[in-house]
Order: sequence, then C-alpha cells, then structure tokens
Amino acid sequence: MSPILEETLNPKKIQEFVGQCDILENLTIFIQAAKKRKEALDHILFHGPPGLGKTTLSHIVANELGVNISVTSGSVLDKPGDLAGILIHLNLNDVLFIDEIHRLSPIVEEYLYSSMENYKIDIIIDSGSNARSVQIDLSPFTLIGATTRSGLLTAPMRSRFGINLRLTYYQKKLLKIIIERSAKILNIPITEESSYEIATRSRGTPRIANSLLRRIRDFAQIKGNGIIDSNICNLGLKALNVDKHGLDEMDNRILTSIIDSFKGGPVGINTIATAVNENSDTIEEVYEPFLIQEGYLIRTLRGRIATRLAYQHLKRAIGNNKKF
Ligand code: ATP
Repeated sequence: MSPILEETLNPKKIQEFVGQCDILENLTIFIQAAKKRKEALDHILFHGPPGLGKTTLSHIVANELGVNISVTSGSVLDKPGDLAGILIHLNLNDVLFIDEIHRLSPIVEEYLYSSMENYKIDIIIDSGSNARSVQIDLSPFTLIGATTRSGLLTAPMRSRFGINLRLTYYQKKLLKIIIERSAKILNIPITEESSYEIATRSRGTPRIANSLLRRIRDFAQIKGNGIIDSNICNLGLKALNVDKHGLDEMDNRILTSIIDSFKGGPVGINTIATAVNENSDTIEEVYEPFLIQEGYLIRTLRGRIATRLAYQHLKRAIGNNKKF
C-alpha cells in the first residue's frame, strides 16, 4: 500500500483503534498516569506478528501523550553515534520508536541501556590523543520498541521495558469493522457480506485487510459500478488468488510439509523449519500462532500435529490410524 494511503487509514486516537482491548485499556491508564505526573511514560515493548498495528499504536501513544515521535529502525542504527544523534534531539517526554528492535547490533543495544535507565549517554569528543568521553544528560523520553521476533531480544534488553505488550491476531468481526472504517475513509461503498468475506481472508491481520480492500476497490471501479458487492468481491478475490481461509503461501507450505512429509506429525519445529526453508523462530512467532488459533495445527510436547481441518483444507485423505 502506498505510504500516503496507509497513513490516511491509520487510526490516530485510542478510540479509533479497533480490537486489542486489554492492551488499550492498560495503555490508557499508563498514559493518563504519566500525563498526570508530567513524567515520561515507561518504555514499551510491542511484539507480535507483522501488520497487527505495532507502528500504529506507537504513533497513537505519542499522540495521546501530546509529544513528538521520532521513528527509526534497528536495522539502520549501525553505530552508537547514529543513536546518540537521535537521542540528543529528543524533547522532554518525547517518544522514540525503534521498529525491528531485535536487529540492533550488540554495541548499539548496550549504548541504549544507559540512555533508557538514566537518560544519560557517553559521547567521545575530539580524536587521537585528545579523545575523551563526556557524559551528556538527555531529556527523559519513552522508548517504544516493536518486534515480530521477541525471542531474538536479549534478556537485558527485554528487562529494560517496563511495559511489555503482545498483539494478537484479530477476529473476523473486528477485521470487518476495520474494513468498513477504511472503506468509509476511501469513500467506497461495500456490502456487509463483502466486508465479512474480505475479513475472512485477511489472515487475522489489518494490514492484509486494508490492502485487499484497496485492490478490490480497483475491481469495483473498473469492472463494476464502483460498489463492492458479493460479485465484485468474489471476482477480485479470485483474480488475486487469495486463499479461501486467508492462509498465505508459507502457512500452506508448513501444513503441506507436516502432512505430506511427516505423516501429519508430531514433528519438531526445527525439522519443519528445514523442510520449508524458513527460520524456526519466524515459524514459531509469525506463522504458527495463526495456524493454531484457526485450528489447523496443534502444539504438543512431542511436536506439531496437523489437524483434521488442515487435511480438509489441503484436500488430503486422513489415514485410518490418525487421532486428533
Ligand atoms: P509491522 O510489524 O509489519 O511493521 P505493524 O504491527 O507495525 O506491522 P502497522 O503498520 O501498525 O502494523 O499496521 C498495518 C496497517 O493496518 C496500517 O495501515 C494500520 O492503519 C492498520 N491497522 C492496524 N491495526 C489496526 C486497528 N486496530 N484498527 C484499524 N487499523 C489498523
């Protein structure tokens, strides 16, 4: 989705953010308390699969606090100097958002620790034999880290976040609300059935829901009369080759591999990872939770087992000896 359009669809306030009720309830209290005390909000870690709203929520937190937000990513902060440049420009109680915080290099990560704890950093001034380290006081700030791979965060890093929140997949009825809200903003009429159908195929993920809506809008405007009804919706979803149940290519590869290569399991995560050529942490944190939530996979002590639903989905015959 184009950045401008994505920006227009982004909720700006807590009330506009759909779902994740427990997280919102807690955040509202923390924000109000920090504002009342006129202090920086404690550092927050948002984790969970991609596209569930970590970045959006971080902007909402800054907005609700009435402060500025500086945005960067763990993959671009190469040196402590890069981070220092950002930190010294933060104003009182501002938010610093670091996306993909698991990608910080160990040296930058260590540098971040003291800024998070005491709002102080050491910088080296001068060079050669005159080089010396000077401690600088920073304005108190809130670090918001976002990650899809919390398992890769070091324990010292994780322990420095006072607020640790995990975003989970959205139920279809919530995605339907998000789709209807986005359709309103995009000024495209949509029927109830169509918004539910798109919600069903969005893998529990608002980003996918919004991007499907936008693509189907194209079909409505070119092949139809500008309204997203069932006909246009089905035409678009078929042309876009979207899985009937919202599973993506990797979801299907994981299930296929468990059923075809490992007789439906139980099979260990590392074996699955090798079979589908994906990192085992990514499978555990990004793909598996959705497959379990939707009932395609069971996690047992002996490994992962494909369920009856997975066999039906992939149109595979279930062996007589199979117990679920
Ligand atoms: P990533 O980890 O891939 O960066 P993310 O978790 O940061 O993803 P966002 O970029 O915040 O996800 O959200 C993706 C899109 O979904 C945005 O367009 C955002 O507006 C929309 N969105 C996310 N959550 C919600 C929500 N609860 N209500 C409405 N729209 C949402």
